Amino acid sequence: MKQPLSSQESMDLEAKYGAHNYHPLPVVLSRGEGIYLWNPEGKKFMDFLAGYSAVNQGHCHPKIIAALTEQAKQLTLTSRAFYNDKLGLAEKYVCEFFGYQKALFMNSGVEANETALKITRKWAYDVKKIPVNQAKIIAVQSNFHGRTLGVISASTDSSSKTGFGPYMPGYIVVPYDDLEALNLALEDPTVAGFWVEPIQGEAGVVVPSKGYLKKASELCRKNNVLLLADEIQTGIGRTGKLLACEYENVKPDILILGKSLSGGTMPISVVLTQDSVMDVIKPGSHGSTFGGNPLAAHVVIAALNTVHDEKLVENSHLRGEQFRKELAHLKKLPFVKDIRGLGLMNAIEIENSPKRSAWDICMKLMEAGLLAKPTHETTIRLTPPLVISEKQMSEACSIISAVFSS
Ligand code: PLP
Repeated sequence: MKQPLSSQESMDLEAKYGAHNYHPLPVVLSRGEGIYLWNPEGKKFMDFLAGYSAVNQGHCHPKIIAALTEQAKQLTLTSRAFYNDKLGLAEKYVCEFFGYQKALFMNSGVEANETALKITRKWAYDVKKIPVNQAKIIAVQSNFHGRTLGVISASTDSSSKTGFGPYMPGYIVVPYDDLEALNLALEDPTVAGFWVEPIQGEAGVVVPSKGYLKKASELCRKNNVLLLADEIQTGIGRTGKLLACEYENVKPDILILGKSLSGGTMPISVVLTQDSVMDVIKPGSHGSTFGGNPLAAHVVIAALNTVHDEKLVENSHLRGEQFRKELAHLKKLPFVKDIRGLGLMNAIEIENSPKRSAWDICMKLMEAGLLAKPTHETTIRLTPPLVISEKQMSEACSIISAVFSS
């Protein structure tokens, strides 16, 4: 086939040869730089999805790409059958960066969640002394932690769950942002962990009430239950703090990170804990051929250095305030129900009406040069790379205002 392909040719190939497990907007992307993306025909877009927050540092960040290519020429994979000269450095770096004692690297976000669940169950038996095979983990309604069978077994979203049973037992599901329900569930002495997103991303940027996480962490401590925070989407500056848990001064027992640990260049995820928790993992009890490979280990340091050196957490906070201020006037529109978020994790909620869906608005935004994706019928999630400048944010807000006003 003649290359480069046109947008239409690329979409036709995917339709014919690829599994139809996504429903993308009809746009093909062939180049990225900072907050911008281009299609093969040269049309430029502002990226307001940032690879579901995996590209917080912006597309093809030169320092991250330099680290990636430098290490790719040196050594990419040894497996954990041997040591490599980069993993220890990365483990030290992430532990110090996030304030933990031990790190376990995996690849995708869902694998890091599976790892956290396994650590929690092992801790339940080895440390908390819950009778064998009886440990339970509390999850919340509308959670999203990824797509494996173990993880979707706790899901309440029928599109990701239905048709894949039988499901893994051992979960109690309580409503999100409901301390009474959590307190009641914690009365069960076989509960080992409470597993939660500090802000629910895929559920539509659902910000819980102030004090929810703080009180939840106190209840966990009181009941000798581990708090597992999935910050795969909220972490690494996305919400205007390094971790969303910081808004409530909460330090989870198990912190789960992924996505922009690599600045969007490759799958890297990590689970962070103190020694007393991670020490339940022994040789042979958990692993991954690619987890902790030297390429990922080198990239993770460059990606986090970039967040630090370019003050991306601070920028996320400032640009988020700007976003909500410049778009506050949209709330006067009769079909706009809410504009909410923290830092650069924002959403516009529209009224449920056959006249217009979030998808229709995303199509209009795309035509106007801004890429965003709906989560559910009525929610448009807006999460640009954290490198966005004040001027770029103003331009983006003008595009969004114009589309909504028309
Ligand atoms: N956890 C959260 C909170 C997420 O938002 C996601 C992905 O969007 C995941 C886990 C799964 O990550 P991955 O797609 O890398 O497996």
